[in-house]
Amino acid sequence: MTTDNPLLTNYETPPLDKIKPEHFVPAIDHVIAEATKEFHKLAEEKSTPTFQNTVVPIDGLFADIERIKQVLELFTLSKQSPEFAAAAEHVSQEISNFKKIVYQNQALAGRFQKVAKLLSETKDDDKTLYKKLSDEFEGEGAFLSPEGQRRIQQIDNRLIALYSDFSKNLNTGQEKEAVYFNDPQDIVGIPEDVVSGLRENAQQRGDDTGWLVKAEGEQVAKLLAVADNREFRKKIYEAQGRVGTDKSFDDEGNSLSNELVVKEIQSLRYERARLHKQDGEIKYPDYAAYALSRTMTGSVSTAKKLMEAVTAEALPQFEKNVKNIQDFASARRGPPKLEPWDISYWMNRYKQDKFKFDSREFSEYLPLSNVTNGFFETAGKLFNVNFTEEKTGKYPIYHEGVKTYEVTNKATGKLLGIIYADFFARANKDGGAWASQLQRQSPEHKQPSIVTLNLNLINPGDGKDPLLSQVEMETVFHEGGHAMHGLLGTNTVHPSLQGPFASSDYNEFFSTVLENWTKQEDVLNSFAHHHSDPGKTDPEKKMPKKLFQAMKNASTFCSELWALRAIKGGQIDLDFHSDKPYTTSEALEKSADFKSDVANLIPSHKLNRFSHIFSPDCAIEYAAKYNSYLVARALSELGYKPFEKNPFDPDASQRLTELYRPGASSYDKMAAFSEYLGKKRTPEEMAEAMAEAMLQSIGIDKHQPALAIADGRRY
Ligand SMILES: [Zn+2]
Repeated sequence: MTTDNPLLTNYETPPLDKIKPEHFVPAIDHVIAEATKEFHKLAEEKSTPTFQNTVVPIDGLFADIERIKQVLELFTLSKQSPEFAAAAEHVSQEISNFKKIVYQNQALAGRFQKVAKLLSETKDDDKTLYKKLSDEFEGEGAFLSPEGQRRIQQIDNRLIALYSDFSKNLNTGQEKEAVYFNDPQDIVGIPEDVVSGLRENAQQRGDDTGWLVKAEGEQVAKLLAVADNREFRKKIYEAQGRVGTDKSFDDEGNSLSNELVVKEIQSLRYERARLHKQDGEIKYPDYAAYALSRTMTGSVSTAKKLMEAVTAEALPQFEKNVKNIQDFASARRGPPKLEPWDISYWMNRYKQDKFKFDSREFSEYLPLSNVTNGFFETAGKLFNVNFTEEKTGKYPIYHEGVKTYEVTNKATGKLLGIIYADFFARANKDGGAWASQLQRQSPEHKQPSIVTLNLNLINPGDGKDPLLSQVEMETVFHEGGHAMHGLLGTNTVHPSLQGPFASSDYNEFFSTVLENWTKQEDVLNSFAHHHSDPGKTDPEKKMPKKLFQAMKNASTFCSELWALRAIKGGQIDLDFHSDKPYTTSEALEKSADFKSDVANLIPSHKLNRFSHIFSPDCAIEYAAKYNSYLVARALSELGYKPFEKNPFDPDASQRLTELYRPGASSYDKMAAFSEYLGKKRTPEEMAEAMAEAMLQSIGIDKHQPALAIADGRRY
């Protein structure tokens, strides 16, 4: 059986062109059976426990399991089908059950705990691994009564099934609610390359005359900012709003609502968190307390304090800005009252008028290839690496559009790993933008580290290069930052510490901080070049200084919207995971919203399709941690300061590269980060510095010139 299953062959890079849904269940069953044999040996071991004979092999039990799981995740996100979804549900259940066998075993837990006293002698990488596994023992119920242990297993199995239902409703809903149109009036204002991409969407469904917009966040957001036709904007906004609700149905007329799914997840997570006890008392009052105890901020109250401090300044600023935009729109025969489908469009027009910033003109200098090259150059200088596209087909891929890049050390030429980049939206691909660790470098370096980088750009077709918006350019740098975090992690001692295993608020720093480089004139100038001169031979076609300056001036305007959006999502998420009584998602969203006349203009995830917070994968989950985006933004404002004078300061680059090595820097995240900044700070001082930096970034500061930030990030 094992030889004809591509997942069980002795490969260097996964044979993605040969893998089919039916390969996953036998593969996971096989590796779990092997790991179970190893587990029994470990649990029955009688020698004195040491780090090497206990912690390392416990971690090793999951190496093959993780390897298969990561490949499956790639397919469930990038090549969605009912078959892959069914395989994913089975695999998740099997892994969850095996984790219970390992981490609920009392003999093994006892041996593991005995190693704790040896840790003062070990390296940070070892301490980090110990802490990671320690969280696993607790999380999987090692310290519960036998009854509690059984209950946690039941809950986890049910949560996996619920997430599977949630995803199915969401994915089907995005396809079903796609908006088809064929009136040329609707496309006025939409750039040509985007229009041809929408035509491609329609053609994929067999229509050659109209256009199709998928009811997916990134595509809808891009169109809301530019489409002149108000009715069209309203239509696509509302279509996206139906996804996951009781207004969305599949072909057979079944409801695609996630309301009941979400409600059950809420009560199960609450119960699960409260199973944990300390000295006979409930240790975590609710799921938010449990989840945030493992983050960089460390507690619900610290996260809330940051959110409140920023809201207090940002909300009045937004109210003022909305009034200006409303006056501006009214004077130009715009809507008498701005609605959620108007704000982005009229904000753009306002920026164009007041700051002479034309976002469409700006895009003309940002073909995708320029932006990716810009990212490669920036990351290359910062981290001392080279990027080379591998075009010979050496690495099997899962879709013809995927590009592979080898990343090597500039000085030694040594391969750090490979990036698999999948830039375009298509049917059966998950929405949004994300990066993931597809494979970790194996100890003997036989298998290289592989990271994936995924966007949902509208494909203009015919091999044309799409023109990116400012937000999309930042997204390339953001996801590229996640990719670098994975690749630089290969320097770490334990393979399982490669990639984003630390808490989400820390992980998102490594992506968010790189967005800062797109705002530096020299950096942007080095890659922004007009699309009419792809060979870049004409120096006249570089981005004009005036346009850059206009972007700078415009980008602080209304930048508080980004923060408010992150806070709104964070607030909904924290309330959802608290002990507040839950009736419906709508009621919760309403009670968590800002008390302001302009609250409805701040876009936000709806619980019924808030996929971040519903994944049951504990390793990188965002449940109760959506506030991570705000925390990470604040960290990244602080984290850019060492580069303010020179975006490629050699000393700061060196320290940043060190920080990207997760094995060492994740043990005491706050201490490692303070050290990177060159100044020791207590957690309280850090929280204060973060709030201050965040406010500065949205232009609220009397002494310092403000740094610009984006206003539309989704992931
Ligand atoms: Zn991210």
